[in-house]
Amino acid sequence: MIIAVDGPAAAGKGTLARALARRYNFHFLDTGALYRMVGLAVLQAGRDPHDEAAALEAAQGLKPDLTHEQDLRSEDVGAAASIVAANLKVREALLGFQRQFAQRAPGAVLDGRDIGTVVCPDAEVKIFVTASPEVRAERRHAELAERGEAPSLETVLDDIHARDERDRTRAHAPLVPARDAYVLETSQMTREQALNSAIAYVEMRRK
Ligand code: C5P
Repeated sequence: MIIAVDGPAAAGKGTLARALARRYNFHFLDTGALYRMVGLAVLQAGRDPHDEAAALEAAQGLKPDLTHEQDLRSEDVGAAASIVAANLKVREALLGFQRQFAQRAPGAVLDGRDIGTVVCPDAEVKIFVTASPEVRAERRHAELAERGEAPSLETVLDDIHARDERDRTRAHAPLVPARDAYVLETSQMTREQALNSAIAYVEMRRK
């Protein structure tokens, strides 16, 4: 079974997807981390994320199993990730790994932007997690503060708007809910409520 969890930045997809994977004992892949690794590699090479050749080189040289050895969560890396992610060749270079991962038994949960639309269009369960930009900015701001990063709430909100715009309007695999996705609007929900709602949906699909 494949569970696809998509949605915009800081909507809580990662937390939800991890919790679902734990609950069902499935493998979990944070696909944003792959794009973040490519973005980070480009920055570390002293090159510009808009430089298509640099981004493709980084994507082709990626070793996905190193994900947890690097700090990928900073705002700079997130911004570079969303720039390299608009590059079709970069997306193609990362597709095979994601599709293979999705086939792992007994099941896999993948979170990203295009899992239900492009990576696993046949996934049995597709959940599109979203929340208002203001709520997402507050959540991201709190997460960054916990990590010792202290941009203002306004800066975080501006960054979320910029990232939404880039992710939604790009030509390749733009951020949109799959037609058969369950849209989970979490602005007014606690994490626990969002998880319960997602589990209820998965259970319904399993029957
Ligand atoms: O989810 P996260 O914020 O870590 O993703 C970083 C960036 O990677 C996103 O802004 C998006 O542009 C890109 N991404 C993508 N497709 C995915 C996952 C992430 O384009 N499946």
